[in-house]
Amino acid sequence: MRAMANEVSAILPALRAVMDSALESGRRLTDGGRAIDEHQVHAERLAYAATEVKAAEALAAYAASRRDAGAPDATTDAMAAAFAGEVAAKLRGAIEVHRDDFGVPDDVLARTLASAEVSGVVRAAQHESRFRGIGQEVIRTRAANNGYIDGDVAEMARDSARAFARKEVAPLAEHIHRHDDLVPESIINAMRELGYFGMSVPEEYGGQGMGNLPMIIITEELSTASLAAAGSLITRPEILTKALLKGGTEAQKRHWLPPVAAGELMVGISVTEPDTGSDVASVRCRAERGEQGGAAGWFINGAKAWCTFAGRADVLALLARTDPDATKGARGLSLFIVPKNPFPGHEFEMKQPGGGVLHGKADRTPGYRGMHSYTLGFERYFVPAANLIGEADGEGKGFYLQMQGFAAGRLQTGGRASGLAQAALEVTATYAGERKQFGRPIGDFQLTQYKLGRMATHLAAARQLTYAAARLMDDDESISLEPSMCKLFASDVAVWVTQEGQLIHGGWGYAEEYAISRHVVDATVLPIFEGVKPILELKVIARQLLSG
Ligand SMILES: Cc1cc2nc3c(=O)[nH]c(=O)nc-3n(C[C@H](O)[C@H](O)[C@H](O)COP(=O)(O)OP(=O)(O)OC[C@H]3O[C@@H](n4cnc5c(N)ncnc54)[C@H](O)[C@@H]3O)c2cc1C
Repeated sequence: MRAMANEVSAILPALRAVMDSALESGRRLTDGGRAIDEHQVHAERLAYAATEVKAAEALAAYAASRRDAGAPDATTDAMAAAFAGEVAAKLRGAIEVHRDDFGVPDDVLARTLASAEVSGVVRAAQHESRFRGIGQEVIRTRAANNGYIDGDVAEMARDSARAFARKEVAPLAEHIHRHDDLVPESIINAMRELGYFGMSVPEEYGGQGMGNLPMIIITEELSTASLAAAGSLITRPEILTKALLKGGTEAQKRHWLPPVAAGELMVGISVTEPDTGSDVASVRCRAERGEQGGAAGWFINGAKAWCTFAGRADVLALLARTDPDATKGARGLSLFIVPKNPFPGHEFEMKQPGGGVLHGKADRTPGYRGMHSYTLGFERYFVPAANLIGEADGEGKGFYLQMQGFAAGRLQTGGRASGLAQAALEVTATYAGERKQFGRPIGDFQLTQYKLGRMATHLAAARQLTYAAARLMDDDESISLEPSMCKLFASDVAVWVTQEGQLIHGGWGYAEEYAISRHVVDATVLPIFEGVKPILELKVIARQLLSG
């Protein structure tokens, strides 16, 4: 164990030194981030490499914390060294191929990643035998995720969420997916009773005030049972909660947060439009001042797209243009809480007594079923003035508040993705132990062990990157870099792990009756929403890393 810890201690400082040098050079290349669009390809490379380096650091810190706490674990140490080695080899290879773009001086490389010592350690740390050893352990334990967690609250949260998710959600997950059903009220009611909708709501507003780490751990467990019918139910209240805490008036916080925390109000988030996705500042849905029945308010007109859970939701957090001057861009947008009636099914129409109409139709999707994602049309839909978040002060601040909410959503997606990858790893480890070919369980073959070892290692890195981001967000709610990094990396890990798992299942991985086929189609949505992968890399991660 000590040897592997030493390997990590040799690799990580070298990796950090090279990454810092590459970022420094990237800042010069992009004029402090102002010219990212002239160097998009390299900026994306830097964003991804920096994310992987952070993941390697997070996994190494976790392995060290286990040793410090007197709970050392050889597999975790092997994973930390193997992952650091893999990231180091990848970065060194990328620099070799794109030498001029990276601009890392030869002498920096020579005394770090290219030195004889570090190169030797990197070779040893990620040798296939290491991954095979990890893979054997994964098969033996059926990938059980019982790793040490720092903190009693987090551990209790994991145990109770796991018991609930496996007993109440998992048995329904397959049926909901195959029939494209709406998540049943029984799941919502049980999550309500467990207080899962108010985990990040401060106690003074009726929530649990648990902090971000238990919230992530609960999300993971729920997502292991079902991404859409459990883990993702928490995302929407999380986003609205963070936006309200940041920009709501005291009266708005007191009015909206308690019922959101109690799970009395289901929430939808409506930002995307049919013609406006990544370029959020160009949102066109209009909100115009008006009056109805003597009450001042806003009339909403326009179309929205991909609003998940909009049918069942009681309120939508809606981003709309309140300033008709299109040149105002992001500064012309405001965030509203739009009440509506809940509807089951894939299509609904809501008529207000004053004539306003909201029509919704779900777009069919191969996965992520259970909440339905709707295209919406608003026609003179009336919203009271008190529902603009921040009221008069909030006018023009919707973009900023929405981004604050998205940071929380992205953190939570790190948990969703880790939970989904965990589900895929568990069913694959079990399958590899049971399926026999050529007279032996397929898990006895080197390549299966190696693949499972790498899958488990990448998942461990994604999980620890997410936990590290959660802890940072507890200290500073305004951060957005780390939540974006964990969303980026964990989503890719979920896509890759589910697909590797499907291959290990062979033809049965393509059969609907095997859960892995559901996990594959569920995972592919993760890099798309809350900032599609290229946008997250360029506009959030690269921009922050290269600015200044
Ligand atoms: C199942 C599902 C559920 C969703 N739920 C919600 C929800 O609840 N609420 C909500 O508001 N939205 C939701 N979304 C929408 C989601 O957030 C958007 O799809 C996403 O932000 C991308 O927007 P877009 O689809 O318009 O893609 P576009 O913005 O058109 O981007 C498409 C591609 O173009 C390229 N591209 C675009 N701009 C650039 C650039 N500047 N530089 C380089 N490349 C670029 C990238 O490759 C990008 O992947 C959901 C989507 C799905 C599929």
